[in-house]
Amino acid sequence: MSTLPSHLEKQLENFIVLQLTACLSRFDDTKPQKMMKSYFSWLRKFSILYFQTRIQRAQELNSPEVTLAKKLAKEYIGNKNHDFFVTCVDGRNMPTIMFSKPPQVGGALRTPAGVVNGFMEGQKSKTVFIDTDSYVVLQIMTLLREKAGDTIYYGLDSHLGCAARSFIHSTEGGKQTDGGVRADIVNKMTTTKGILQLQKKMKKQWKYVADIVPIFFSYDPSSGGVISGLEIHIDNKDVVNFGYTE
Ligand SMILES: [Zn+2]
Repeated sequence: MSTLPSHLEKQLENFIVLQLTACLSRFDDTKPQKMMKSYFSWLRKFSILYFQTRIQRAQELNSPEVTLAKKLAKEYIGNKNHDFFVTCVDGRNMPTIMFSKPPQVGGALRTPAGVVNGFMEGQKSKTVFIDTDSYVVLQIMTLLREKAGDTIYYGLDSHLGCAARSFIHSTEGGKQTDGGVRADIVNKMTTTKGILQLQKKMKKQWKYVADIVPIFFSYDPSSGGVISGLEIHIDNKDVVNFGYTE
């Protein structure tokens, strides 16, 4: 691993010395002072490694292997197509592992339970209220303009075994049958309607925008597989009563 740039090393050193001095001045006893010193020696080692790995990661973006992976992915997906998806912040849901996703080709957004904020059921039936202050809504609007004339495939992940979603839905008082998978897909169908409604509205206004195709999928972090088509069975009587079961 490469060494740190000298100015960064110096900044880090100054920061740690200043913090340590400030912390030590709060204690008279030698025991807590000793402890504090060992904490800071750990912090220094950790920080150096942390910066080194971040720098290495940034450098790898331009490595021949990653450049080739990006080129192959672009050829496979098609020049006029762009793939984006939203998944959970769950540590197992890593875009590189889920879809061998190379950096800077399309994109991935990670939120708790993969929830896209900014699309809610509208007052009039079958309409969606779109909050244009939402970061994600603004991001989709930017994509629609930037990729005008092309097609965006926008994936929404209702992943299996989602701890964040169980928590969100149980606080809403929802019935817990399948860890909230069905409830999540129902919510994401509203998101989908909202995305299509947004595209229509922007097309009216701007004339030249991208097409957008929302896609549902459920990633299974325990097997690494992806299940598609669960939304087709959303109104199935058994699914309504018992949720999705194995
Ligand atoms: Zn999750």
